[in-house]
Amino acid sequence: MNTEIKYCPMCRTLLKKKKLEEYPRLVCPECGWINYENPIPSVAILLKNQNNEILLVKRGVEPEKGKWALPSGFIEVEETTEDAATRELKEETNLRGKTKRLIGVYTEHPEIYKSVLVIGYEVEFISGSLLAGSDCSGAKFFPLEELPPIPFSSHRKIIKEGLKD
Ligand SMILES: [Zn+2]
Repeated sequence: MNTEIKYCPMCRTLLKKKKLEEYPRLVCPECGWINYENPIPSVAILLKNQNNEILLVKRGVEPEKGKWALPSGFIEVEETTEDAATRELKEETNLRGKTKRLIGVYTEHPEIYKSVLVIGYEVEFISGSLLAGSDCSGAKFFPLEELPPIPFSSHRKIIKEGLKD
């Protein structure tokens, strides 16, 4: 699917490709609007239980629908990255948590989004019983030696880094 924008969202003129500061951008020849493209900020959550098992969700949406991965999602405009992490955890797994530390920041290039910035947090369990929520069809704690293949390199790095403490 070609999701490239064609018309200016301000004045509806057909956009033209132009090189600005070395980057090819779509620019409006009428009003000067520029289609800046940037990575989309998201959060991914590492939550371990008392047995050092890792919480994964079975993804209900693309990319990688049907595969197991860390709970994750896009950050809403009005929230902090920490708020996004605890909100996504609650939405996808029904667990309430508290951010413990920032593990790292990574970049992912899934086909449907050109570039996604993945901010990995370790989150501590507060309360709730595990239940697969919106955007996923399963939620489960996995022992380290039984982790299913995780499709995102950023998530694999968050798990690896998050276990060093
Ligand atoms: Zn325009």
